[in-house]
Amino acid sequence: MRDRHRRGRGPLVDGEYVDYANFDYAASAPCLTSVADALSAALPYYASVHRGAGHHSQVSTDAYERARRSVSRFLGVRTEADAHGSADAVVFVRGTTDAVNLLARAVPEGCTVVVFESEHHASLLPWEHPAARAGQVIRLPLPASPEEAVASARAALARAPEGPRLLCVTAASNVTGEIWPVEEMVEAAHAEGARVVVDAAQYVPHLPFSLTGTGADYVALSGHKLYAPFGSGVLAGRADWLSDAAPYLAGGGATRRVTEHDVQWNDLPARHEAGSPNVLGAVALAAACDTFTTETLSLQHIREAALLERLRSGLGEIEGVRELSLWDAEHARVGIVSFVVDGLPADLLAAALSAEYGIGVRDGLFCAHPLTTHLLPEGHEQAVRASLGVGTTEEHVDRLVGAVTDLVAHGP
Ligand code: PLP
Repeated sequence: MRDRHRRGRGPLVDGEYVDYANFDYAASAPCLTSVADALSAALPYYASVHRGAGHHSQVSTDAYERARRSVSRFLGVRTEADAHGSADAVVFVRGTTDAVNLLARAVPEGCTVVVFESEHHASLLPWEHPAARAGQVIRLPLPASPEEAVASARAALARAPEGPRLLCVTAASNVTGEIWPVEEMVEAAHAEGARVVVDAAQYVPHLPFSLTGTGADYVALSGHKLYAPFGSGVLAGRADWLSDAAPYLAGGGATRRVTEHDVQWNDLPARHEAGSPNVLGAVALAAACDTFTTETLSLQHIREAALLERLRSGLGEIEGVRELSLWDAEHARVGIVSFVVDGLPADLLAAALSAEYGIGVRDGLFCAHPLTTHLLPEGHEQAVRASLGVGTTEEHVDRLVGAVTDLVAHGP
């Protein structure tokens, strides 16, 4: 498996272009070669889907619906109803933010939503948007352990008013990389008669996720974090709530029939895909899903875990470096490490890593302000995040550890 970053594409350092050490996969991952190939194959047939009789339109429509089937396989969608709800639908959206906003407008009117303060803003805020159909939104404080997360979610759902209830939880934190106990939370929520939506944006590029396997009711993800281009994503899950709701966007494609006096909305998934769909985005995302089989993802996770361990132990040996963790340092995580360096502001450190060593990290609060602010040691306003992906090598890790060591010793 290869991504499209090439050697020599880094910045000029001391008069030479260095190999770019990308440690910003959690923000956006560069296209896989297989994704770029799928895009090249689809481009000659570039056409709008569903309503065109022409050959290219038919080929594109076929590719778009095939993409939906690939995504369905990748996410292990349910083809039949079970005790907790209907079979699943797969809706193409622009990304995780779009997916959660769609769901916030599709939940039954007045649905109670339980969400942890630790969520990325994309999963924290849509429930409180004026257009959301959620009723009470219960924000839970940061749990001190995974066990406490399950217990406090269950207690909040049990206390919530009668009627539809939804728990929103992330599968892997974009700040700490920590993996949340999704299956246990689903079990707890289902025991209380509630549903669960999983923000899997940071999880699916690292580990296999299945709706059937976890029992989760909905899942949201972004193509650009899964080595496909920007602008494609997925909301998959129980079709009943989605088909009972008004379309997320009103417009062509979402309609079956429009008269002077009346509009008949379409069935799923078209109901929530108004406008001309992002066919190439769907094709690209599907190519990434096809590449990341359970087997390749598991192998990639093993490789990444070794690199992550190398990075964390290297950073841990540097005086003044402190990693951000919500839970025990040994808790399982995906390839993400956020840290601060005493005496070195994060923005300065990130800028020096780029300019002097060709290393790309991210600095800030990572769109999860409550969590990151809580985890920052006193005297720090921001952190640096290093995230790993398929192109990360031992040399990159050693370069990052060496660079931070140098910068601590000599300053930027
Ligand atoms: N959820 C998590 C955990 C994320 O890390 C991100 C992006 O960083 C998002 C949601 C939002 O994704 P997007 O910007 O693709 O909508």
